[in-house]
Amino acid sequence: MDDKPGPGPLSETSEFLFSFGVIADIQYADLEDGYNFQGNRRRYYRHSLLHLQGAIEHWNTEGSPPRCVLQLGDIIDGYNAQYKASEKSLELVMNTFQMLKVPVHHTWGNHEFYNFSRNYLTNSKLNTKFLEDQIVHHPETVPSENYYAYHFVPFPQFRFILLDAYDLSVLGVDQSSAKYQQCLKILKGHNPNSELNSPQGLSEPQFVQFNGGFSQEQLNWLNEVLTFSDTNQEKVVIVSHLPIYPEASDSVCLAWNYRDALAVIWSHRCVVCFFAGHTHDGGYSEDPFGVHHVNLEGVIETAPDSQAFGTVYVYPDKMMLKGRGRVPDRIMNYKRENTFRC
Ligand SMILES: [Zn+2]
Repeated sequence: MDDKPGPGPLSETSEFLFSFGVIADIQYADLEDGYNFQGNRRRYYRHSLLHLQGAIEHWNTEGSPPRCVLQLGDIIDGYNAQYKASEKSLELVMNTFQMLKVPVHHTWGNHEFYNFSRNYLTNSKLNTKFLEDQIVHHPETVPSENYYAYHFVPFPQFRFILLDAYDLSVLGVDQSSAKYQQCLKILKGHNPNSELNSPQGLSEPQFVQFNGGFSQEQLNWLNEVLTFSDTNQEKVVIVSHLPIYPEASDSVCLAWNYRDALAVIWSHRCVVCFFAGHTHDGGYSEDPFGVHHVNLEGVIETAPDSQAFGTVYVYPDKMMLKGRGRVPDRIMNYKRENTFRC
């Protein structure tokens, strides 16, 4: 296997700065293999842990180790809740992550909420907000406690933002809370089906129970961070469990209000790429504003003889995703100043 930083001669034109790892939808459970809801994709519940171990061994032995790894959510499968194995499975996966020699940032997906309440997650090892970097004298860039999001700087002039795509959701929230009622109203307002996980007949098929959205409060915070990054000429990487760009995703898997998130991102020049999980099949598209949307292939639907993770090598003019197994390579050039639209 090729372990050189960057896939090919293009990387020789500029200086390598740093790298980071990406992995999505591990969905571990101590179960026999099964199938997805549609019955057309095999799920390797036990082997997903071995896939994770393989990725960690790879990152640990790279000549120039990644600065961090981004775990894009759905770390254990919802089946664990049914078998009362949520805590045990989480512990097993987290013990595996302990072998990683660099920090890991955990995103929360729907399967986190099938297993745990938001309150539980906040107090668990899946809360990596302690890894956040704060911008002094800019209180507007400090996230509120109402959602799980933060930003950090793994390398000077490169800011990473972790978003909470289940900020608006009926999952993991106390059903007696006002927020639950508000989210249920949004969901039912767009989805008249009695089974709220069904997108059948919907003009906006992303309005299903297994998705969620971004509150205006979180989007305002994102806008403030991106404003700071623009001013300081930083490059920004955003991660979220749910994708936000239709061309890169199955329409049923998008965040409820993906358009609102895109509108914020498109009003800034600093965002280079947006990484998401959730779809399992993977996807990629560069949007009209030059933002690269990468939906990572999910570990859970990856055969034992393959792999599903990637390492992104960062250069002054581009990021290069070197995919492993069924994750394809991608070259993500930064947008040119003169193509930026206000
Ligand atoms: Zn998911």
